[in-house]
Amino acid sequence: MISVNNIVKSFGGFRAVDGATLEIAEGSITGLIGPNGAGKTTLFNVIAGVLNPSSGVVRMDGEDITGLPPHTLFEKGLLRTFQIAHEFSSMTVQENLMMVPSGQSGETLWNTWFGRKRIADEERALRAKADEVLDFLTVDHLTHERAGNLSGGQKKLLELGRTMMVDAKIVFLDEVGAGVNRTLLNTIGDAILRLNKERGYTFCMIEHDMDFIGRLCDPVICMAEGKVLAQGTIDEIKSNEAVIEAYLGT
Ligand code: ADP
Repeated sequence: MISVNNIVKSFGGFRAVDGATLEIAEGSITGLIGPNGAGKTTLFNVIAGVLNPSSGVVRMDGEDITGLPPHTLFEKGLLRTFQIAHEFSSMTVQENLMMVPSGQSGETLWNTWFGRKRIADEERALRAKADEVLDFLTVDHLTHERAGNLSGGQKKLLELGRTMMVDAKIVFLDEVGAGVNRTLLNTIGDAILRLNKERGYTFCMIEHDMDFIGRLCDPVICMAEGKVLAQGTIDEIKSNEAVIEAYLGT
């Protein structure tokens, strides 16, 4: 589904990503691991259109998507989770979800004057969709909670929920399990597995927790020093000598 071919991203003279090549198969939950500074986040940002690569090509279903802006990728179903922006923290969880879909007709003056009924219909549909997402994530008790009051793990769930408001095909998760307690981590893991199996989502996730990766991801790709070092099942990766050396070296 995604093919990353020889991507380089330099900051000044430093190559944060140094010729990374990898594939993300449709229907997979691909894990991306590697020591700090390996270039994982930078590569994510290149794929998701947040950063332009210095060279190399990213393709989605064979189409060159290198350098396309995030909103164009969003329309193609490629999403990257982001932390809930500060200005959204006083809004409720439900309102945060309802803000996601683009192209709402309430945005133009014409529609504000002439399209009241249609806006009301769309708002009702969005509210129903948001409620369905919260039900799926088993957090419907948080519907009217302010986003700013959520725990770290609940915020991660909301980030995941935002990707469910649109027709996502592939979702990039950046450390969705970081700092999350075990119970919520299981809820997040269950949601990812169900989205993958029941709704056909493909995932690519940067993660440090090896148990979490082992439960969810196949294959696992290990990066080090801006390059792909190894790829395989979690067990193959754990026993790969180059991988062990890369981790010990940091
Ligand atoms: P990882 O996510 O694997 O920890 P990053 O992609 O965050 O790695 O960073 C890779 C390297 O690139 C690090 O050495 C980091 O300091 C550097 N880097 C990342 N972003 C920038 C930037 N905007 N400017 C300069 N250096 C950066």
